[in-house]
Amino acid sequence: MMPPRAADRTSLLVAPLLGLSLACGGQVVEDRPNIVLISIDTLRPDHLGCYGYARPTSPNIDAIAAQGALFEQHISSAPWTLPAHAAMFTSVPDSVHGVVDAVKFRLSEDFETLPESFQTAGYSTAGFFAGPYLHPAFGLGQGFDRYVDCVQTVPEGQVDADNEWSMRDPVLRASHHGVTNDKVYAEWQRFFTEAAEEAEPFFAFVHLWDVHFDFTPPPPYDTLFDPDYDGPFTGRDFFYDPAINAAIPARDKEHIIALYDGEIAWTDEIVGRIRHDLGAAGLLENTVFVITADHGTELFDHGGKGHRTTLYDEQIHIPLIVHFPGVVQPARFAGQTRMIDLGPTLRDLAGLPAVSTTMGETLGPFLRGEQSTGLGRPAVSELMSVGRNLRSLRTADGKFVVNHDNGGSAWFDLSTDPGELQPLMVSDEAGVGGGAGLKRLYDEAAEEIISGLERAPAGAAAADIPASIQRSLAANGYAGGDGDD
Ligand SMILES: [Zn+2]
Repeated sequence: MMPPRAADRTSLLVAPLLGLSLACGGQVVEDRPNIVLISIDTLRPDHLGCYGYARPTSPNIDAIAAQGALFEQHISSAPWTLPAHAAMFTSVPDSVHGVVDAVKFRLSEDFETLPESFQTAGYSTAGFFAGPYLHPAFGLGQGFDRYVDCVQTVPEGQVDADNEWSMRDPVLRASHHGVTNDKVYAEWQRFFTEAAEEAEPFFAFVHLWDVHFDFTPPPPYDTLFDPDYDGPFTGRDFFYDPAINAAIPARDKEHIIALYDGEIAWTDEIVGRIRHDLGAAGLLENTVFVITADHGTELFDHGGKGHRTTLYDEQIHIPLIVHFPGVVQPARFAGQTRMIDLGPTLRDLAGLPAVSTTMGETLGPFLRGEQSTGLGRPAVSELMSVGRNLRSLRTADGKFVVNHDNGGSAWFDLSTDPGELQPLMVSDEAGVGGGAGLKRLYDEAAEEIISGLERAPAGAAAADIPASIQRSLAANGYAGGDGDD
């Protein structure tokens, strides 16, 4: 199979005469590229070699990035799993898809999600997930012919039927422990072995969860980056154990970060295996291979840990790498891009029609080398859960943050303060390039969100979550107080 190019248009036109199968849109699906969308949960780009990290955490991802396109400033809609993946699949900000809190909401069936577009176009669609918030109960399974739960669970016999949700104690706790990458990979392989033989293209969503805490990579990755440590800390219960905090000695922090990096190296190995599978089947040339994340995580950057707590860059800056030989030329893009741009981009690269309700923009013209300037649209990120009510507007050189509970706001000059350590007040004299300019962009973005809400097919649906699971969520801090994921 060849990727679709202008020269193939003739074959697209004559194909119906040859009796090839058609998708609903009347176009030949065999000529469309496969999509492999890898979402590495909690992956900070600044811990990848291709984004400048000194430690060799990511040789496979780096090799893919070197042959593809890398977006240096890709920004998530949210600092936690559920709304971020809902935005990945709907290409609208969190306020518009509405799935901003796990206890109350699930994604409405009325959105045309990214997997649904590919399913409608005749693709075989599959998703493999290992984190509890990817569960279909939250509406994220829409459009997948097969959607496989690879969440770490407690042994059979110790749980009841509710635990099929993966959200109830002790399953919720267990979901952070252990290793799930190999289970996800086994399910990918099972799917791919069949899909590679089929005539129709496939869309595979591979959610890798091990980089998310706990930071307990399997050997040899557990000692790869800090073999000599003999202190008391492990990566277990990173988020829940109050003994792990920003006040611990620097040497112990280094160890915990080495374990996080070990998880990245272990996950990089899985990415390499998937790439190898595609290559061995001769499908690498006709596959759009995407590596991204849902959000990052704080490693004591601002005196805290984990995520779903702030909108600082360590929680919302994510990687985006797109590999599609022959169509996407090797390139690095410094301009800012947004999670909500991914859906329109993948539809564009596969020749699928755009979806009118999306609020992102295709990056296709940049990837194909047709356009080199014009990246840098402002990115909106939101956190409306676990007692926070924050929204930020980020550009390449500034970020404006509003706390909607008290109306307070601050901005950061990312050009001089990339670590966001010096909050600034908006001054009328600051000019367009300073806080006032950011505030104006923020106000425009808020207007866009209101207009997006008016155009959205529906708000979030009410989640039908059993009381027992709601109690478990509350007990684990998911429904107020300190959260995670
Ligand atoms: Zn996540």
